[in-house]
Formats: sequence, C-alpha cells, structure tokens
Amino acid sequence: HAARAKELRGQAGGTKDGHHVPLLANLGKPADAKTAIEYGAEGVGLFRSEFLFIGNSEPPSVEEQTKAYTELLSQFPGKKVVIRMLDAGADKPLPFLTPEDEPNPALGLRGLRTLREHKEVLEGQLKALAAADAQTDADLWVMAPMVADEHEADYFVKLGKSFGLKKVGAMAEVPSIALMADKVAEVADFVSIGTNDLTQYTMAADRTLGSVAGYQTAWHPAVLRAIKLICDAGNAKGMPVGVCGEAAADPDLAVVLTGLGVNSLSMTPVALDDVRAQLAEVTFEEAQAKAKAALNGDFYTPAN
Ligand code: PEP
Ligand code: MG
Repeated sequence: HAARAKELRGQAGGTKDGHHVPLLANLGKPADAKTAIEYGAEGVGLFRSEFLFIGNSEPPSVEEQTKAYTELLSQFPGKKVVIRMLDAGADKPLPFLTPEDEPNPALGLRGLRTLREHKEVLEGQLKALAAADAQTDADLWVMAPMVADEHEADYFVKLGKSFGLKKVGAMAEVPSIALMADKVAEVADFVSIGTNDLTQYTMAADRTLGSVAGYQTAWHPAVLRAIKLICDAGNAKGMPVGVCGEAAADPDLAVVLTGLGVNSLSMTPVALDDVRAQLAEVTFEEAQAKAKAALNGDFYTPAN
C-alpha cells in the first residue's frame, strides 16, 4: 500500500479513466514547500499568509512580504501557486486588526472585511504579491478569504488586477457566495471552496467549539449541495473551482468532490498519497454516481 502510494507520486492526480484533478498542497510558510514537493504536489492550492502577521504588533513591511512570497514562488517554477490574502479575525485574531468587543467574531470582521477596513494592509499585500510575481516564474493566483457575494468578489478582482496580478479569485466560505455562484462566475477568475468555514456557516456551528463539533462535517448533504451550486456555475461559465478545506484530504470525500465537478483539490501534503491512490481507483462516472448518492444524504449519519 505504502509502496504503491509512493510509486504514484510522480503521476498527476485523477480518476483511473484519465479525468485530471490536480492535487495541490496547503502550506503555512515558505519552508513547507519541500514537503509538498516530496509528496508530489502539482502546485500549491492554498498558501495561508497569516504566518507573516501572527505574533507581530504591526503588519510586515512590503519588502518583508515580497521576500517571503518570492521565497515561496521560486520553489514552484511553472507551477500553480494560490496565495490567500490575510485572513484575520474570528479563529485567527490579530491584535492590531481585530476588534476585541465582537460578541460573535465568526460573524464579525474577518478576511476581506478586515482588509477593507485596513486599506494600507490590503494594498501593501497586493503590492508585495505583484512584486514577487514579477521576480519569479510560478503561475501565481491570488484569492481573498470570506468573500460574501459577487459584489465583493468584483471589488477584490478589480483591485488585484489594478496592481498587475493576473489571476484573482474568491474563496467560497459562506453560503451567500454559494447561492450567488452564477454571478460570481461572471467576475472572478476562479473560486476556491474553504470547506472548513463553508461547513461552519452552512451548519451555523462554531468550528472551534467542541460542543457542536458533530456539525462540522462536509459529508452533510447541505454542505455538498452548496458545493454543487459552485461547481455547476463554474463549469457552466468555464471558471475553475477548487477545494482547499479539510474535506479535500478525506479520500472518500475527494472522490465525491471530483464527482461534483471540482477541478482541483488542495490538502495538507501528507494527505496527498491516500487521496491520489483513492482517486485512481474510480472512473469519473463512478465518482459522479458517488456524488449523487452523497447529495441525497446516503453517506451521512447524524451525530445525535
Ligand atoms: C477553510 O475555511 O476551509 C480554509 C481552507 O481556510 P481556513 O481553514 O484557514 O479558515
Ligand atoms: Mg477559512
């Protein structure tokens, strides 16, 4: 089993009948790139840029950020690298950006909402990303977290492009953006589904709270139906849709997501072997049949 998994590392991800689903890595700092490459990641599907900000009392300078993004991008020449803009707030509070008096931080200022309140941080990060892009040969995609709808997506895409970025998109983490996916597909270059937050907000259950942890599963057909809305809109309009939440790291869910029409899966590098092996066991048609059953709730057992 382990030997077979290793043997597959050099191969592109996909079903046994050749439906290609690039398998990408989630990274938290440039130094993680080595592990991603070792496990055969075809690129980076989620680079969480928070590491540059956490533990500091003020935002990093543009120069400091440019250096970090350049270090990351230079390790993936010719490969896709999706960098997420700072996701401050809620489960990732930053003292100098996040208000302390929010009764429901997950429903407060976070992600793009925080960035819009702090334009200097937003623009500094975009400037650094564009500078790093100009110095390297990776295929850089940039996305914003916690985007509510097509208006916010349009705002961010236009702003990113004004800084010279080529591929600019939105994360789908709240039900509102899933419901508006057809409109979003008209303005965004791509969407990446953050299933951790999309599950939290679809089920209205705090992802950090043990007492409601039973709700935090993307196997819930409500979450899968939200994902389907996004995939259908993306595939109808030719807009790539990826998944970068924990769901992509579950080999059985990865098959379901593939069947729903997700175009790429991004996960913690150590999960790549098992997901790659599992996908290679099924045809695309079998994955579609699994997706249909999952949408019907066939694989979901309520915790209570
Ligand atoms: C997600 O919400 O699924 C996601 C990928 O982002 P994070 O876990 O960093 O909020
Ligand atoms: Mg998230």
